Amino acid sequence: MMAVTESQVLEALRQVADPDRGSDIVSLKMVSGVAVKDGHVHFTLEVDPARGAALEPLRQAAEKAVDRLPGVLSVTAVLTAHRPAPKAVSGGGAPGTGAPGAGKPAKAGVPGVAAIIAVASGKGGVGKSTTSTNLALAMAANGLKVGLLDADIYGPSMPRMMGLSGKPDSADGKRLDPLVNYGIKVMSMGFLVAEDTPMIWRGPMVMSALTQMLRDVNWGELDVLVVDMPPGTGDAQLTMAQSVPLAGAVIVSTPQDIALLDARKGLNMFRRVDVPVLGIIENMSYFCCPNCGHRSDIFSHGGARAEADKLGIDFLGEVPLDIAIRETSDAGTPITIHQPDGVHAQTYRAIAARVAEKIKAGGGRAAPRFVIE
Ligand code: ADP
Repeated sequence: MMAVTESQVLEALRQVADPDRGSDIVSLKMVSGVAVKDGHVHFTLEVDPARGAALEPLRQAAEKAVDRLPGVLSVTAVLTAHRPAPKAVSGGGAPGTGAPGAGKPAKAGVPGVAAIIAVASGKGGVGKSTTSTNLALAMAANGLKVGLLDADIYGPSMPRMMGLSGKPDSADGKRLDPLVNYGIKVMSMGFLVAEDTPMIWRGPMVMSALTQMLRDVNWGELDVLVVDMPPGTGDAQLTMAQSVPLAGAVIVSTPQDIALLDARKGLNMFRRVDVPVLGIIENMSYFCCPNCGHRSDIFSHGGARAEADKLGIDFLGEVPLDIAIRETSDAGTPITIHQPDGVHAQTYRAIAARVAEKIKAGGGRAAPRFVIE
C-alpha cells in the first residue's frame, strides 16, 4: 500500500472548515507540526485559547478527514492554545522549515511554574511513580519549591504514595487547590474519582484532564513541577508530551527493560516532539539483601548506564531494589521522608540535584518544535 504523505494529509485537512471563521483550517493556518511516520499521523491545531474546548468537534472532524485517507493507520490531532503570531504550515511548502525560534507555536506555560519535567517509562511496573515521588521529595529537600502532578491517569498512585486522601477544595471557586504533604503540592486524578471507578480514557479526555490538572489547579509559585506520566510510549503519552510545555524528560528503566528497548522508545518519543531527555535513572538496579547486606546483580546491573552511553544521553543514577523502598511508598511515607539520612535518600537527592542542574542548563527553552520524519 502507498505510504500516506504529508501533502495528502494537508489536502485532506483543506476539506475541514472552521465553522466560525468560514474557511478551511489549512488556509486559516491552524494546522502545524504535521508528522507522518509509517502510516501514523500526528498534527496540531492551533487555536485561540478563548475558543479552546469549543473546538473539540473540529479536532475530531480533522482527525476523521485524515483517517479516511488510504494508508493511514492512526491519527492524533492535538489542540494547542498558544500566544499570538504562530508560523503555521502552509499548503504546498515544506512544513517545519521556519527558522528556529521564528514564530514557533509556543505552548503557554503554567504561570508561576518555572519548569515542568516529565518522568516516563517504556512500560509499567518499572518504578516510575516511586521514582517520581522520591525525586520530587528529594528536590524539595534540596530547597526547591516542588509540585507533583500524577498524570498516570490509568492507575493514579500518588494519593497512596504521598499518604494523601480527600478531595481538593477550591478557595477561589475557580481553580482547585492541590493537596499538600511533606512540603510538596500534589494533584492526582485519584483525588477526583473513587479508587474503584474504572477509568476509560479516550484521547481528547486524556488531553483535557491533563490540561485541567495543569492549568485549573492553584500551583502557585513552583521551581519545578514533576509530572508522573502514564507508562508507555503510545498516543496518550505522545499527546501529553505535546500538550505540556516540558523543560525535559527523565526516563526510568530497570536494567533488563532497557536491554529490551522499551526505554529507547521513550527516548524517541520525546525526541520526536523535541523535548530534551535529561537522562535515565536505573531503578531496581541491583539487590541488597536486608539480612546480610550482600549485593546481587539480579538483572544484569549496569545495562542502563551502558545503554545511556550508547544513546548519548546522561545516566542520572541507580536505585537498588530494596524492600524498604517498596514498603515505605506503599505506606505513604516514601523512603526520602522515612529515612532522610539513609543511603537511598542520599541517592535520590544526588539525582535530584543533577536533574535540577540540567534543567537550569537548558532552562528557558521555548515550546517543542516538531520534528518531521
Ligand atoms: P510504575 O509507576 O512504573 O508502574 P511503581 O512505582 O508503581 O511502578 O512501582 C511498582 C512496584 O514496585 C511498587 O510496589 C513499588 O513500591 C515497587 N518498587 C519500585 N521501585 C522499587 C525499588 N527500587 N525497590 C523496591 N521496590 C520498588
